[in-house]
Amino acid sequence: MVSRVIPVDVFDLVVFGGTGDLARRKILPGLYIRFRAGQMPEESCIIGAARAEMTDEGYRAFVGAAIAEFVAKDKQDAAVIAKFLARLAYVSIDATGENGWAKLAGLVRKGVVRAFYFSVAPSLFGDLAERLHAHGMADPESRIVVEKPFGRDLASAKALNAVLAAHFDEGQIYRIDHYLGKETVQNLMAVRFANILFEPLWNAQYVDHVQITVAETVGVGGRGSYYDQSGAMRDMVQNHMMQLLCLIAMEPPYKFDPDAVRDEKLKVIRALDPVPPEDIVRGQYRGGPRKDGSGEPSYCEDAGDAQSRTESYIALKVKVSNWRWQGTPFYLRTGKKLRGRESEIAITFKEPPHSIFGDEEGWRENVLAIRLQPNEGMNLTVMIKEPGPGGMRLTEVPLDMSFAEALGDEGADIPDAYERLIMDVIRGNQTLFMRGDEVEAAWAWTDPIIQGWEARGDKPRGYDPGSSGPEDALMLLHRDGRRWREIRE
Ligand code: NAD
Repeated sequence: MVSRVIPVDVFDLVVFGGTGDLARRKILPGLYIRFRAGQMPEESCIIGAARAEMTDEGYRAFVGAAIAEFVAKDKQDAAVIAKFLARLAYVSIDATGENGWAKLAGLVRKGVVRAFYFSVAPSLFGDLAERLHAHGMADPESRIVVEKPFGRDLASAKALNAVLAAHFDEGQIYRIDHYLGKETVQNLMAVRFANILFEPLWNAQYVDHVQITVAETVGVGGRGSYYDQSGAMRDMVQNHMMQLLCLIAMEPPYKFDPDAVRDEKLKVIRALDPVPPEDIVRGQYRGGPRKDGSGEPSYCEDAGDAQSRTESYIALKVKVSNWRWQGTPFYLRTGKKLRGRESEIAITFKEPPHSIFGDEEGWRENVLAIRLQPNEGMNLTVMIKEPGPGGMRLTEVPLDMSFAEALGDEGADIPDAYERLIMDVIRGNQTLFMRGDEVEAAWAWTDPIIQGWEARGDKPRGYDPGSSGPEDALMLLHRDGRRWREIRE
């Protein structure tokens, strides 16, 4: 299969926070890859804007080092890197003061697509929007890209939406959720809506339950005190997992159009039931010995707060109260320091209404598992006759589709979510970005859950590093006669 690269229009992209961790690891290496692929036109410019004093040359060296560190070696071509670096400039700027703004306004061209990536703390969003406006850069053609976290509750999300809305229309605001940029997540929509096969079964009549798992092996490490202000519910469930749930549960949009898709996602969020305390399990990883005999810090040690009640793990049973999903639970779990690194959505179908084979031992439910990482792909388990002359015995086989294998060279080249999303910003396509009302609706569902455990003073349950999470999380499914899928090491 030959990959088709359609160049985007010429653009100027200003990366506020252009010296930060996110810019260094994701945004700038991603732009280089798109440049190398021929998607970023050579006349485009990238302007790093951050607090540090630096020359253009200094910034090019900084970005060159980021490419050397974060781009695969076989994609590092000296000549292409030199061309790419020549498209970079740098402005030392203060989001909260006047320093650098006149220079930036002089650099950003009129007549090309202008995008401003706010890769800075959300507390600076208002200052940036205000100054872009004051210096004549907030015209109807410009777009802004904002990073997570988008608020820590409904009130703060509303406040952020309001400061952005003061100078930009909703159609100019791109709220990034990098999960939506993943190939598999978009494939979920293709599988659902470009095939006749699944959609008739995609409802409570045929789907027993859905599991969404985002498991990490790493702890909060050096980000401990920062993470301690949020926890798994705010950091993962309110945004990424909610988005995945929406894509599974939503009705077919009338068109693959940004607002049509986002309207349907919003309806799902609004249909979510409040979650009672017995349907929530929060956990916190304990310390433990490492294989080399040294000690591994507990969550509280990582967070620098021996009394912390923030969860590094959460499992929830979520109900979507609408006609399609009445009676089909969605089980969500995410955690740090678990036994494997895995993101997966698994749709478990119901038993056939009648077994003509009698009480067949080998029988298993059909499961459609959609892997986001590692090895993006899909796997559908089906029952077949066990080969051989031993009578009619059933066995389960996977119909496995790993995109990297199925798509050959192109599959191996699946773009990183950031690459795709930045190109979507330039193309002006908001389908894979969260709309303001979606984010607010997600917080409106999340707030009472968090307020509930805060008011009760709930403590998270301890779990061992390298485990599958707290024991109580197993019970959440056991009591419904179900089991979590195994998190693979
Ligand atoms: P960082 O602390 O590494 O970098 C912050 C950047 O902001 C620096 O370039 C700094 O110079 C700039 N900055 C700070 N104050 C400024 C001011 N007053 N004026 C102008 N520039 C200023 O942060 P980061 O990890 O790159 O994260 C940036 C944003 O992206 C944050 O909102 C973060 O929550 C979000 N985010 C980061 C990651 C990640 O992997 N790092 C992932 C998702 C979201």
